[in-house]
Amino acid sequence: MQAFKEPIYVTRPMLPPLEEVENKLKEIWGAKWLTNFGHQHQILENVLSKRLKVPYLSLFNNCTTALMVSCRALGLSGEVITTPFTFAATPHILAWSNIKPVFCDVDPVTMNIDADKIESMITPKTTGILAVHVFGTPCNVNKIQSIAEHYGLKVIYDAAHAFCVEIDGRGIGTYGDASAISFHATKLYHTVEGGAVLLNSGELKKKVDYMKNFGIQDEEHVVMAGINGKMNEVQAAIGLINLQYVDQEIANRKKLTQIYREELDTVSGIKLPIIFENVKQNYQYFVIRINEKCYGFSRNYVYEKLKEYNIYSRKYFYPLCSDYACYREIESANRVNLANAVSVGDECLSLPLYGALDADDVRKICAVLREIRKGRSN
Ligand SMILES: *Cc1c(COP(=O)(O)O)cnc(C)c1O
Repeated sequence: MQAFKEPIYVTRPMLPPLEEVENKLKEIWGAKWLTNFGHQHQILENVLSKRLKVPYLSLFNNCTTALMVSCRALGLSGEVITTPFTFAATPHILAWSNIKPVFCDVDPVTMNIDADKIESMITPKTTGILAVHVFGTPCNVNKIQSIAEHYGLKVIYDAAHAFCVEIDGRGIGTYGDASAISFHATKLYHTVEGGAVLLNSGELKKKVDYMKNFGIQDEEHVVMAGINGKMNEVQAAIGLINLQYVDQEIANRKKLTQIYREELDTVSGIKLPIIFENVKQNYQYFVIRINEKCYGFSRNYVYEKLKEYNIYSRKYFYPLCSDYACYREIESANRVNLANAVSVGDECLSLPLYGALDADDVRKICAVLREIRKGRSN
């Protein structure tokens, strides 16, 4: 089988018609208001809170600041229980807040923090749980909530991957004390860079709003130690434009996901992402798991081999955060206690998926995956 002529990347950003961006920029130039809660910002906050089905939403310059501010607004300190199978930002926001990340193993099916193991990791220093809805699959939100209530812990969700995800029709951002979502260019829906904190409490929204703007209440009152986490008008405008196209983007990805599923369903050693009937998914990623024994080759081999065909997949998430040099000395980072995370981290491969990807290219990627398997010795 021949390699692709042009490289196929794991993702490509949504790019709305440039003309629409130009028109919006004209509007912003006319208003002479580039940042600090302008017109575009106000509209986007409103529209997005409805869209994500959350009572309150606060826009940010990125998801990492959104997580840091959530953590601070909820008064977390000491130790926070989190997952090693995530993007670097998750444990980093704890470390940057002088909080010790405590790594809990993941559920082998959902790949999210294993709620049944959280309790055993709680110490007198524990103040919260920072869980991640990995690849948009919801965590065991009910179990996490009941543990949090029982032990008086706060819950923050890193919902970076969970744009528009719902459980039984309920917005994913309504679970826990706060959730943070990412609008980075590589995510499903973007504002080039950006993010938001999703909240149930109006009081907390007020606090978060102060915190992202240096703690400034008005010209003469700075009411708390804040930071600069604001989203500017150009970002907000791109977000408003992209909102018009995101449903089409999701529909396209859904179609491509179905092709992946049909084509890979019977390939031994390739495990497809699970589907929950009560969850509205967003089709942001298509992440398979490669079982070396059944497939005949390791995930790492497949990842390298795909490159020979000009296909650029990603090892999401590898290495585990608990294996980073800055965390591996922490007791909970010991791989012995993270067996599921280790195997998930060794098996996962994120395949190319974006709205503009050609359906035939997806079929060809699947054919390549079947072809690679034919080279096995057993
Ligand atoms: C992308 C991502 C982030 C960081 O988002 P930014 O908007 O780039 O700061 C955090 N957590 C997870 C799980 C992510 O995938």
